[in-house]
Amino acid sequence: MSIRAPRTKSSPVSGPRFTGRHGVFTCVNEAVAAARQAFEQLSERGLEDRRRIIEHIRRISIDQCVELGTMEMNETKIGRLVHKIEKLKTLGERTPGVEFMRSEVYSGDRGLAVIEHAPFGVIGVITPVTHSLPTITGNAVSMIAAGNTLVVNPHPSGRKVAAEGVRRFNQAILQDVGIDNLICIIAEPTLESAGAIFKHRDIALICVTGGPAVARAALNSGKRAVVAGPGNPPVVVDETADLARAARSIIRGASYDNNLLCIAEKEVFVVDQVFDPMMAAMEQAGAIRLNSREVDALTKAAIVQVGEGDHKHDAPSKEFLGQDASVLAKAAGRTIASNVELIFGETDESNPFVPVEQMMPFVPFVRCRSVDEAIAKAKHYEHGFRHTSIIHSNNVRNMTKMGRIMDTTLFVKNGPCMASLGLGGEGYLSFSIAGPTGEGVTTPLTFTRERRCSMIDDLWILGRPK
Ligand code: NAD
Repeated sequence: MSIRAPRTKSSPVSGPRFTGRHGVFTCVNEAVAAARQAFEQLSERGLEDRRRIIEHIRRISIDQCVELGTMEMNETKIGRLVHKIEKLKTLGERTPGVEFMRSEVYSGDRGLAVIEHAPFGVIGVITPVTHSLPTITGNAVSMIAAGNTLVVNPHPSGRKVAAEGVRRFNQAILQDVGIDNLICIIAEPTLESAGAIFKHRDIALICVTGGPAVARAALNSGKRAVVAGPGNPPVVVDETADLARAARSIIRGASYDNNLLCIAEKEVFVVDQVFDPMMAAMEQAGAIRLNSREVDALTKAAIVQVGEGDHKHDAPSKEFLGQDASVLAKAAGRTIASNVELIFGETDESNPFVPVEQMMPFVPFVRCRSVDEAIAKAKHYEHGFRHTSIIHSNNVRNMTKMGRIMDTTLFVKNGPCMASLGLGGEGYLSFSIAGPTGEGVTTPLTFTRERRCSMIDDLWILGRPK
């Protein structure tokens, strides 16, 4: 398989100029040059070496998940330690790798055409604070499986664990395979360094995972971009749902890592007929219900206004984003046990917790007259991101209707959000889910260019002798 990308004028000559840096750079130009050099070296190797390289990333993510997860928790100060650890292990174990690489073949009277999937070269990567090292682990496995190398601009608040993980990956890969800097990282990332990566002529493709601002920046960059943007996943519960199962699922999904997942349940629309039993089922399953006075107090404390003029909007307060349910409850004037995973309460749709991607373990429940009203509100408050939506129902017509109307990349029925990534459901995993640009749950093939190799009039061995 031919996998070389064209060398541009500014590409470095091959050689060990950056060997020993283990991927950690302060200068974007040097990082891109090192990643380009690593790409040239990787292009000389076969699929078996890619598999070996990825094995090191997987092994370190799994074996060192406690140490690295604890570092991520201590640095970012959001989410829950047990899930920081679990995310690294899960991504190490389950991110699609070389096994996802495949070719297509057309054969017939006029010979043979083979379509192979070639790397782009060096990919510019932006990662979120919600999963700093886990996103790098997942992106690196998929991108290297496809033969690319990467330069990462991490979120500044998760930069240290990101750089440490990258250093460990590269060191192990260099020792075994003899190539350094397959994953490069900017140690002191800024918006300027992100901009420099976007503009760099040796960056062949961009992959961003983050909120609305970075999604817009990537789409305006003038480069091909894979954009894993924000979500505000709504849940609909209709009158046919298994309420106990719905409650368990909502708690599992919405409380995971204190609601930091982009796919996590963020607001729930319940038909009136089962609203009260649904609230009771939530309590039965271990979530704590706030009364309306407590919900008001929490809203005042945890939702703030940001931006100026026309751009002024509600946003989660940094003080409460990703904090434990007991911390949120305290702000609502309530003392609850520190092991409570989720708090919830009845609100109307005007409460900012409904439109805002809150990323904290409080979920608003809105009473709706009918399933049609619930689906219409779910559509409205998903904001057209087309990211993730969820229904709990045993009525296949309602499921079908909601699936069609929502038009989301992920549509989950009767399970927690993560079941759609193969964690308790079927399918495979990635923490970069590209909605705006349409690639969906990213795999190695997302990061490839199609190349066709045609043999004319020969090699169709099933054909009649000429
Ligand atoms: P964020 O948007 O604040 O930051 C994400 C990254 O983008 C960071 O590295 C940040 O430094 C960078 N950035 C921000 N503005 C930029 C700009 N104008 N130019 C260049 N870079 C810029 O998001 P966050 O708080 O780190 O992460 C949470 C967000 O990410 C949520 O909105 C969540 O839904 C989303 N997310 C999406 C997915 C997905 O797969 N679709 C996965 C995880 C997180």
